[in-house]
Amino acid sequence: MESLTIIGASEADTRTALHLQERGWDGEIVLIGQEPHTPYEHPPLSKAVLTEGNSPPLLSSAEQLQELQIRFLQGSQVAEIDRQSHRLRLQNNEFLPYDKLLLATGASARRLTCTGSEHTLVLRNLDETLAFRSLLATGKHLILIGAGFIGLELAASARKVGCQVTVLEIAPRILGRAVPAEVAEVVASEHKQQGVEIRCDVKLDQIQALKSGYTIELKNVESISGDLVVAGISAVPEVALAEAAGLDIENGVSVNAFQQTSDPDIYAVGDCCSFPHPLYEQQRMSLEMWRCARDQAECAVQNLLGETKEFSAVPWFWSDQFELSLQVAWLPSFAKRVIPRTRLDGVTIYFGLNDQEKLVSAAGVGAGNSVTKDIRLAEMLIATQKTMNPAELSDPNLNLKKLLKS
Ligand SMILES: Cc1cc2nc3c(=O)[nH]c(=O)nc-3n(C[C@H](O)[C@H](O)[C@H](O)COP(=O)(O)OP(=O)(O)OC[C@H]3O[C@@H](n4cnc5c(N)ncnc54)[C@H](O)[C@@H]3O)c2cc1C
Repeated sequence: MESLTIIGASEADTRTALHLQERGWDGEIVLIGQEPHTPYEHPPLSKAVLTEGNSPPLLSSAEQLQELQIRFLQGSQVAEIDRQSHRLRLQNNEFLPYDKLLLATGASARRLTCTGSEHTLVLRNLDETLAFRSLLATGKHLILIGAGFIGLELAASARKVGCQVTVLEIAPRILGRAVPAEVAEVVASEHKQQGVEIRCDVKLDQIQALKSGYTIELKNVESISGDLVVAGISAVPEVALAEAAGLDIENGVSVNAFQQTSDPDIYAVGDCCSFPHPLYEQQRMSLEMWRCARDQAECAVQNLLGETKEFSAVPWFWSDQFELSLQVAWLPSFAKRVIPRTRLDGVTIYFGLNDQEKLVSAAGVGAGNSVTKDIRLAEMLIATQKTMNPAELSDPNLNLKKLLKS
């Protein structure tokens, strides 16, 4: 009976523990999380936890973990992996032996590096969210650095609770890496309508603390003052433990198609890892996407149980801002041209084709679940890797299901 020890107690890690137990792993499972909380969902942090003050849904209660005989070390930080003697050192200098190890240490918020960057807040976990929420109040002016998904979700949530919000983005447009320009325009226009000021092409010089609040000086000599400054400038895979243990690192803990690191007894899943994707010529990527973390957890479970499962799921991401929900399948940056398909209800789905006219991405934005079905069908079409006819893709009268069957 082999034991499995999991570092991290969030999305990918807790799912792995639960799936393994469901599927009859007969050794001990130890789940180690440094946060002082039972495992919870991260996506609601920038959404309902801020606007409604809701607690995020739990991934599992402490009782459920106990019932399933998963040993949960809450509030314990792993300080070192000793691969030679197969044991971990915890921050309190306790040692824990392991047979198999799974790293799911996630990612941390990228920090600004300009003078005064220590005055900026970041939001990545529940404690940071609760601290941020306690500072939000009607009329306060929040300055957000970065118009990516998290920055814009924070902008929408802060606006919903009555703050004045200014977003500063260094790139010429919002959501630059993640969605086609047309989708970004719909999102930008919704923010504008809701009173968020978004300024693109803006370079920060420094941040200064005032008696009350902060001033941000821009490179064009202009300055902006506000009560709070928050940075949402993407995330960095949390690789320190793996790197110190001598595992291969390539923009994340490097894993093979089976989620296995350069040490066959150690797996890595979720935001902390980088992996080759078979749908994109084995190009290595590192994604911070909720469903990818879940899919990789499922893949690792199968491999830990002795099956041979390659990770091949089509990446999918969603973001909720005001009443809009935006969904992206695969990565639009891989597309060479974009084919719009405007449905009879006015919603447009943007399909991305590569050089060989294969579908590599799909993105759409609309109220509530309005794009869910089309993006789901697009995911299935992407997975087939069939060559597509652009005229058919853009024809709203042609059912996407038909293309899937053809
Ligand atoms: C605010 C926010 C909003 C998001 N919204 C969306 C969304 O709308 N759509 C979407 O698709 N994705 C979203 N995501 C991304 C999604 O939540 C992540 O992809 C997912 O949580 C990744 O899971 P993970 O287990 O790999 O890492 P994480 O959830 O980051 O968890 C890693 C855990 O490991 C712990 N840990 C790290 N080092 C150690 C150590 N040495 N010892 C012990 N514990 C350690 C960390 O404290 C953390 O609890 C969002 C993320 C955030 C932060």
